Amino acid sequence: MTRCAITECRDYTEKELDSALLRIIENTEFPEVNGKTVLVKPNILSDAPREKAITTDSRALSALLRYIREKGASKIIVGDSPGTQTGKLSARLSGIEEAIRENGAVLSDFREENRVHSIDGLNLPMASALDEADIVLSFAKFKTHQLMSATGSVKNMFGTIPGLNKSPLHFRYRTPESFAAFLMKIYQECHVDYAFIDAVIGMEGPGPGSGTPRHIGLLMGSANGYALDRAEAMIMGYASVPLIETAEKIQPGISEASFPLLHPSSLIIKDYIRIGEGKKGTFRSLVIGTVLNFFRRSSTDSRPRPSFDISKCKACSRCVNVCPAKALKIADGHVVFEKKKCIKCYCCHEMCPFDAIKIK
Ligand code: SF4
Ligand code: SF4
Repeated sequence: MTRCAITECRDYTEKELDSALLRIIENTEFPEVNGKTVLVKPNILSDAPREKAITTDSRALSALLRYIREKGASKIIVGDSPGTQTGKLSARLSGIEEAIRENGAVLSDFREENRVHSIDGLNLPMASALDEADIVLSFAKFKTHQLMSATGSVKNMFGTIPGLNKSPLHFRYRTPESFAAFLMKIYQECHVDYAFIDAVIGMEGPGPGSGTPRHIGLLMGSANGYALDRAEAMIMGYASVPLIETAEKIQPGISEASFPLLHPSSLIIKDYIRIGEGKKGTFRSLVIGTVLNFFRRSSTDSRPRPSFDISKCKACSRCVNVCPAKALKIADGHVVFEKKKCIKCYCCHEMCPFDAIKIK
């Protein structure tokens, strides 16, 4: 059985990160990187300062790049392509660009460097670095996610599809379950060899772009991304999340692993602010939230629609550009929402940099 390593990592100091990383690698099936081209896919949802916990922390990424370089990788590529991207991928504010430069890696903008793959009857552009790499690593951030309850190492690889090419896919795969099944296909197409989750500082509340940073103090890694994501969801206090529920239906046992270090059942954060609960909870709210989420997922119609605070809206058009249902436009200096068209994909919420969109 694949091993899934969860270990304490109290902060982002080099000493703490290097020793946590080594414990994880020594206790799991980390691939041999000597002489290989390695692609690392962090979460660069937006070029936000790392304090906001929106991106994989650049110091954690730096620790991994350093390790790979020291182990003799011939080339290291780091890349992503967030849906908000309008120009060339920028990773400056997040510190990721510096981490890449310092460790002799190269940055790949998937929007400029991609090739068409055939998936689920669709011709989809995907990062060409996937073809070049011998080893593919996912490095996600420990975060809640409005549509999928939690985002992790499997969902992270959705970012190999460049920019706004992702939007129509939300229209095609509208429910969390159908989207989860599609994410599985993307993950498989990426041939991910190993996955990490940066859980030193995670995000709770309305993730993945508008939640609140929260200290978790963990670093996690496994060759089995499903096991890793299941462990993350368990630590957040979810009884289940759509990705794992769907994956287990399609391939029973896919998320099973052994835990040589810490076990997620001993790390559950009962007052974690989960999607659908809205406030710091007790054990009672954990149960109520889980039941609510179950019913929300069972019926597409009962899921809430976004609401827009026009006093915060800066008319930046990011939500308009990303909305797959064309339910949004800018008029009179703010966003205008055509409710009936909305398919509740929550892409707009993910993209808004001004906290003007709520899901309640
Ligand atoms: S709601 Fe947010 S993303 Fe949409 S136009 Fe306004 S500020 Fe931009
Ligand atoms: S308005 Fe927002 S939630 Fe509704 S379809 Fe558009 S992007 Fe998705």
